[in-house]
Amino acid sequence: MRIGRYFTRQDAPGVRATLGLLVLGCVLPLSLVAAFLIVEFYQRGRQQLIDSTVTQAQAAIAGVDREFDSLQAALQALGTSRQLMTGDLAGFHTRARDALGNLHADSIVLVDPSGKLLLSTRRAYGEPLPRLPGTPLLKRIVATGRGGVSDLFPGPLAGQLIYTVGVPIRRDGAIVMTLNATATPAHLTSLLAEQKLPATWRTAILDSRGKIVARSHEAAKYVGKSATPALLHSLSVRGEGSLEGRALDGLPVYTVYSRSPRTGWTVAFGIPTAELTAGLRHSLGWLIAGTLAALALGLLLAWRVGGGIAHSVRALIPPALAAGSGDMPELPPLAIREARELAQAMRDAAASVRTAQAQSRESEHRLTLAAQAARLGIWVRDQLRHEIWVSDTWRALFGFPPGQTLTMADVLGRIHPEDRPAAEAALVQPRGRYELEFRIHHPDGAERWISSQGQAECDSAGQVTLVRGVSLDITARKQAELDMLQKQKELTHLSRVAMLGELSGTLAHELNQPLTAILSNAQAAQRFLRQPRPDLDELRDILHDIIEADERASAIIRRLRSLIGNQESVLQPVVADELLSDVLHILRADLIHHGVTLHTDLAGGTLRLQADRVQLQQVLINLIINACDAMAATPAAQRQIAIRSRRYGKQWQLDVQDSGPGIPPTQLGRIFEPFFTTKSQGMGLGLAICRSIVQAHQGRLWAENSDGGGACLHLSLPELP
Ligand code: ADP
Repeated sequence: MRIGRYFTRQDAPGVRATLGLLVLGCVLPLSLVAAFLIVEFYQRGRQQLIDSTVTQAQAAIAGVDREFDSLQAALQALGTSRQLMTGDLAGFHTRARDALGNLHADSIVLVDPSGKLLLSTRRAYGEPLPRLPGTPLLKRIVATGRGGVSDLFPGPLAGQLIYTVGVPIRRDGAIVMTLNATATPAHLTSLLAEQKLPATWRTAILDSRGKIVARSHEAAKYVGKSATPALLHSLSVRGEGSLEGRALDGLPVYTVYSRSPRTGWTVAFGIPTAELTAGLRHSLGWLIAGTLAALALGLLLAWRVGGGIAHSVRALIPPALAAGSGDMPELPPLAIREARELAQAMRDAAASVRTAQAQSRESEHRLTLAAQAARLGIWVRDQLRHEIWVSDTWRALFGFPPGQTLTMADVLGRIHPEDRPAAEAALVQPRGRYELEFRIHHPDGAERWISSQGQAECDSAGQVTLVRGVSLDITARKQAELDMLQKQKELTHLSRVAMLGELSGTLAHELNQPLTAILSNAQAAQRFLRQPRPDLDELRDILHDIIEADERASAIIRRLRSLIGNQESVLQPVVADELLSDVLHILRADLIHHGVTLHTDLAGGTLRLQADRVQLQQVLINLIINACDAMAATPAAQRQIAIRSRRYGKQWQLDVQDSGPGIPPTQLGRIFEPFFTTKSQGMGLGLAICRSIVQAHQGRLWAENSDGGGACLHLSLPELP
């Protein structure tokens, strides 16, 4: 039993692989949905964070604005001090220094509209002060008449980066100077700290040009530097928003910013991207871990469960194979209910196979008995494997020893060389069903006739796969057939001789005529010779007449002898109408003797038949003699025979019609039966023999009654192609 090959088939997935796919099919879509939801939640959370950070940025920039507003308010209050109103700048210097303690500023300065520093709390009153290099805030205050805040710039006294908040000081409605409070960025740094943002966030305050005024990280390094180009660009487009990029220190951040419409200053918060996506990565990490764990667990289960199923199924292979041959070995314990059901079904199938095998054996036994009794040799030829199986009877029939492996050449070698081509054509390339008779040379020296019948089986492509059949020794039957043929031949001959016996009277009469002529010519010659001077010319003529008469007699005898002789049947080309003319010649005297008038209408021309000349003559003579016999009681003047030959397609047809009483309708079907006769001296074999001769020539012979009375016998024979 070749079980191994059932385990090695790779063209279909196993149970484990299928269950593994099932696990993948369940877990992966779930994981994908979870991943989608996580990303979705992340996007929403991110957006919420950004939105809240924008709000925080707005609050922070509002805080900066408030800082500036409170500075401006304090400056405006200081600007209304009596010392300043009265032009007591020294007193005002003292007053300003006092006020500085309550302000978020480092110094207070007075600047005239030309940019000249009039007073600075950094310096003692009266010390010389420099002129301010660039004074955009001053110009703006003079131009608008309203206070404002400058951008970051290097202070003219300490050289530090500072910004200043200034308000106009008017005298009689005109701006005569500006009062400014200057501060270092440190003042704003605390504002950033108040936002209580995560320590990792990059936060900054920018002036209206985008220069960093305060920064949460490495302020000393970046204060005074421009913000990133991306942020500057975004600021030029929108006063509030967010963008992704890198902070100045290179940290990837998501920047949220808000700019004050009043001062143009901006607060920007940079949320490290890693922090933003940390939650997502964390969740996705857990999801992947969970998915992998679920997959591992699922696959492990699939492996174990699949292994159990595969084990149960494989355990059924040996029993299944055994069940095919009717056996049912012990089954191992099976863990799966369906496998147990299958095992039960196989048990039932094995029982059915055993029953069928027993029936088949019984039927085979009977068949063998029947084949032996009938001496039938059975053979099966597998065309695909080129194997031949034969029964013992067949071996005995063909004379092959038991155990010899047979080939087609062995079988053909036994067949008689004359029969071999036909047998080879039928046996080597069989088509459907065939029947064949041939002779074989048995090794015991005997020649045997075999009848072989076979049936070919084809596959869906029409290719012959198997031929099976039986062979039977028909030597005895063939011998009987040959004997019968011989008997038939003898009978045919006898009937011909008998038929000629009927003609003998008229033949004698016909022979008499040339013999009489010979006698009278010989007597005349004797008379001439008795004359003294015989006329030699006359004698020559007489001898010539004698020879002619003798040849006529010889021809009559030759024709008779050819009919009487019992030669083998020889088929040869014969011109039909010539053969008919010969017969009429033989019968001419007999017809005259019977007082029959003959009408001939021959139209077959040179049409030829493949025929045995003598046998066909016998048929024609028989038909004409029967016609004469039928008219025995007919008045002599009305005895007529009409013979007509015609070509019908590829057939030569001869009609022999007489003017006798015809054939009674009840006898029309019987006149061809052997021994049917209505004549007192008749044997009833003539027409039976004629029909068998005609059938042997592939022709037809039948009788009808003519409309005008009398019988008409029809003969039809195939033309020689
Ligand atoms: P037989 O001549 O010895 O009787 P046949 O077989 O030749 O045997 O003829 C069988 C019978 O067929 C005849 O006895 C006769 O009754 C009938 N028969 C044959 N030819 C004719 C014919 N031309 N007209 C009428 N009857 C015929």
